[in-house]
Amino acid sequence: MSKNYSVMEAGALGNLIEKGRIMLGETLKLTGCEISLNSLPAGVGSPFLHTHKQNEEVHIILGGSGQFKVDDDVFPVQEGSAVRVATGGVRAIKAGGDGIIYMCIQAKQGSLEQATMDDGVIVEGDVTWP
Ligand code: ZN
Repeated sequence: MSKNYSVMEAGALGNLIEKGRIMLGETLKLTGCEISLNSLPAGVGSPFLHTHKQNEEVHIILGGSGQFKVDDDVFPVQEGSAVRVATGGVRAIKAGGDGIIYMCIQAKQGSLEQATMDDGVIVEGDVTWP
């Protein structure tokens, strides 16, 4: 019987700079979104601009800082910044002097039919831990 969860270990976020990108979708068997952990060393930017056909993206900066470009706008991002880009946004990201580590979540634009508070169901019983 398959379990109702999957787990992976990406390791310390600080080590992501050496790995570049880790895709979580296949390992975690995600079915509603794709998630990647990404890093760029100091001063390095995306090698290309891109858009998406169906997926909106949310970039959550986990460490470092840099610049984000969408269409004609360029703005600073840092640890704690979250940037949503619609499908047609022409985007790129560039690391600042300390490099940048970020999570990118892709989900089909317009597909969310419920919000967390409406979708969650409280289960009877006490929470116990071993
Ligand atoms: Zn993308």
